[in-house]
Amino acid sequence: MEVLIEAGAGTDSYYSDEAYVNAGAKIVDRETAIKQANIIAMVQNPGEETLAQLHAQQVIIGLLNPLVVTDEMSKLAQQNVSVLSFELLPRTISRAQTMDVLSSQASVAGYKAALIGSNTYPKYFPMMITAAGTVKPAKVLVLGTGVAGLQAIGTAKRLGAVVSGYDVRPASRGEVESLGATFLTTSVDNGAGAGGYARELTAEEQQKQQEELAGFIAQNDVVITTAQVPGHKPPLLVTKTSIQAAKPATVFIDLAASELGGNVAGSKPFETVTTDQQVMIIGAGDLASRVPNSASQLFAKNVQAIINYIVSEDQLNFDLTDDVLKELVATHDGEIINPRLRKTMG
Ligand code: NAD
Repeated sequence: MEVLIEAGAGTDSYYSDEAYVNAGAKIVDRETAIKQANIIAMVQNPGEETLAQLHAQQVIIGLLNPLVVTDEMSKLAQQNVSVLSFELLPRTISRAQTMDVLSSQASVAGYKAALIGSNTYPKYFPMMITAAGTVKPAKVLVLGTGVAGLQAIGTAKRLGAVVSGYDVRPASRGEVESLGATFLTTSVDNGAGAGGYARELTAEEQQKQQEELAGFIAQNDVVITTAQVPGHKPPLLVTKTSIQAAKPATVFIDLAASELGGNVAGSKPFETVTTDQQVMIIGAGDLASRVPNSASQLFAKNVQAIINYIVSEDQLNFDLTDDVLKELVATHDGEIINPRLRKTMG
């Protein structure tokens, strides 16, 4: 294959144009890339204007938000563009794991969350026994122990904190304990939904959970939250009351913070809020991009795995009876393929 790279595409993640040229790629401007490429890989949805320039038979791969931008998906189907979107990947199928951008980026984000916690918290993370006295280790609580949460636990443990984790899926207990952390439970412990994800809790369950979590939160110094429920807004786990009861210097890092809300009351995407009681709430939905070089390296491997999957003998080959492709593909040959997307679009 011939590889075209948009000039400067890697600069912010420390990959130079020169390095791509040395690896055999050709540097072009964006317009040329869009016009000439058969397969176009991108990180996020580039927006209507760019998508409108695509032409029939082109394939695009990225985090394209198809279940939300359904109008764009219909237009792309009409343009006869094939759309492969990472959010649609069936993540539990083993052969799809090398393509799983949600996991690779969540793992980077969880790692960075623990580092930001240790960097922001004004005390040591590990226990320190020194001639000038002993310092107790920090206590870190991770709410939501999926991919990001487990990586945050592992990293906080390596930094010497005393770590506990909590999730509504009982299956995550073993994973949390295997990292040497304590698994906490509330009376809401049956929250597993379909496909290994959590289900949305009822209003009554949510209230119970929030009240019971308040006790754990008050005992911890750094609270990292990662809870998500596919297709719903992130659940509120830390209420205003819990924040008011938190010790001064407590740091909350909300990986779920977005325009839709977050896990922590009052968290704002990409902002740090400090309360009158000196509690910090960090809105951190963008943490993978704060480790840009490694995040890009892993993202690129995921893209490469997809390209290897859809190209055989130099030809694009969409086998839409394949269990991975019939989910991953949003549009192909003028049709909407992914069943969830089809359902959403009615
Ligand atoms: P996610 O980003 O959807 O959610 C993060 C975590 O928040 C999950 O563990 C979820 O259970 C938890 N959560 C949701 N609502 C909650 C609430 N009200 N209270 C507490 N916790 C709550 O999840 P993810 O990281 O994408 O992983 C989801 C599942 O998929 C996990 O079981 C993970 O191990 C599994 N997974 C499997 C594979 C694979 O088999 N290859 C790959 C990726 C993920």
